[in-house]
Amino acid sequence: MTDKKVRVRFAPSPTGPLHIGGVRTALYNYLFAKKNHGELVFRIEDTDSSRFVPGAEAYIIESFKWLGIRFDEGVGFGGNYGPYRQSERKEIYKKYVRQLLDAGKAYIAFDLPEELDAKRQEMDNFQYDASTRMSMRNSLTLPQEEVERLIAEGHQYVVRFKIEPGIQVHVKDIIRGDVEVNSSILDDKVLYKSADELPTYHLANIVDDHLMEITHVIRGEEWLPSAPLHVLLYKAFGWEDTMPQFAHLSLLLKPVGNGKLSKRDGDKLGFPVFPLEWHDPQTGKVSAGYREQGYLPEAVINFLALLGWNPGDNREMMTLDELVEAFDLEKCSKSGARFDYQKGIWFNQQYLLKQDAIEWTPELDAILRANGIGSTPEREAQVVDMMKTKVIEYEDQDGNRKKRNVSFVRDLWPLTRFFFVAPEYDKEDKFVRKNWKESTSQDMQELIQTLLPLEDFSVESQKAAVDAWVETSGKRPWNAWRVALVGTGQGPDMYELSAFLGKEETLARMRKAIEVLG
Ligand code: GLU
Repeated sequence: MTDKKVRVRFAPSPTGPLHIGGVRTALYNYLFAKKNHGELVFRIEDTDSSRFVPGAEAYIIESFKWLGIRFDEGVGFGGNYGPYRQSERKEIYKKYVRQLLDAGKAYIAFDLPEELDAKRQEMDNFQYDASTRMSMRNSLTLPQEEVERLIAEGHQYVVRFKIEPGIQVHVKDIIRGDVEVNSSILDDKVLYKSADELPTYHLANIVDDHLMEITHVIRGEEWLPSAPLHVLLYKAFGWEDTMPQFAHLSLLLKPVGNGKLSKRDGDKLGFPVFPLEWHDPQTGKVSAGYREQGYLPEAVINFLALLGWNPGDNREMMTLDELVEAFDLEKCSKSGARFDYQKGIWFNQQYLLKQDAIEWTPELDAILRANGIGSTPEREAQVVDMMKTKVIEYEDQDGNRKKRNVSFVRDLWPLTRFFFVAPEYDKEDKFVRKNWKESTSQDMQELIQTLLPLEDFSVESQKAAVDAWVETSGKRPWNAWRVALVGTGQGPDMYELSAFLGKEETLARMRKAIEVLG
């Protein structure tokens, strides 16, 4: 087994947008595959037609494209084990259902929904299993001719797995160790439905993992209860020698309080739980996505990778390659990982700061244009460099005023308007009241006279002239000058700002301030 090529799969059901927990599952599969020079398969598990949502498959593919997670084969990628969409594998599953029936490991059941309901009424905790199956309408209790007649007459049926009671089932899990379950607690799961000629999740999942030569099943903890049944299915087919190893990942937990992370937590605290914005085709409702909220894919990857695993040292900022290098499935935590979305914001800040200012400009430019401002990438990049390490104030979901570092390109906008548009002066502004005194107009006139003769309006040239004037006059013009150029107590270094605005605009704003503020 050890010399077999590692093959893992990510196998979502297209029932809606991909949850961020699913993204982490796919990421761990990716890291494990790359670490072991193996292959990652993308399979679509769409055998439950009642839960199919149009657009979900395309959404999932687009999400991974954005995140930079590449599959080696699967839906949209090709490969030698296709088709990779389960709805296109009907005939394959039929053959394996037949095999179980012929071997007496499964049976045909005709019980109507109302008959099953009646049983449930009659018996507390009714379960279709070894203790009850002989009192039901199935191929174990009906004569063979009767079974054939019912099928020929077009009666609908299901195929159920015949689970032998009293067997200890071992699930070996790389993260959880040995999990043991007695088969008596399991029910005779439906494997196939004649109504749509499709297998259920359990059968299709096992058959495909086998045929696609999957060596490791890495998936969310919510699938752990299915694992004993899956082990029994492998045995029933005689595939125990090639049974994949299991690794069930712990849950992502709410940022505060108990329980698993839900979309409601995101709505309440203001963070997305989906990689991309999702437009629900049925309700028209729009759910926020990391991409549209201004997160960088590298930041999302880095953040998710460390939810439930760590490299064993104190590294936090890690590239995808470094994550691959350090990844170890055995070091994944058994207990749930709290979804610390603030940490996600921190990662975004770190990754933004690693970028060149020019890389911020497409998004900044779009925001400026939406506010009626035209500029150039070069000038926008200068603004980014002046403002990217500033702190912004914002209101949290409960209306509390808070501060944090600029962590998204959009955070720049409230801090950068004055670079492009002359301020309106507000005499009541606290900073203005404090710094614009009676004598200020006179000081500003002198500063204008100092700057007026300069041909070179660079930081150095302005600084030399202004320093000399400050030296002889003893004036302290900085805060009032800030009022004139910004309108309030924000912004970068004054010389950098005036150099950016240029001589004409700088002097115009100063004259205007004198006129308005007196
Ligand atoms: N189709 C299942 C899902 O939606 C796959 C579970 C598994 O990986 O076995 O997550």
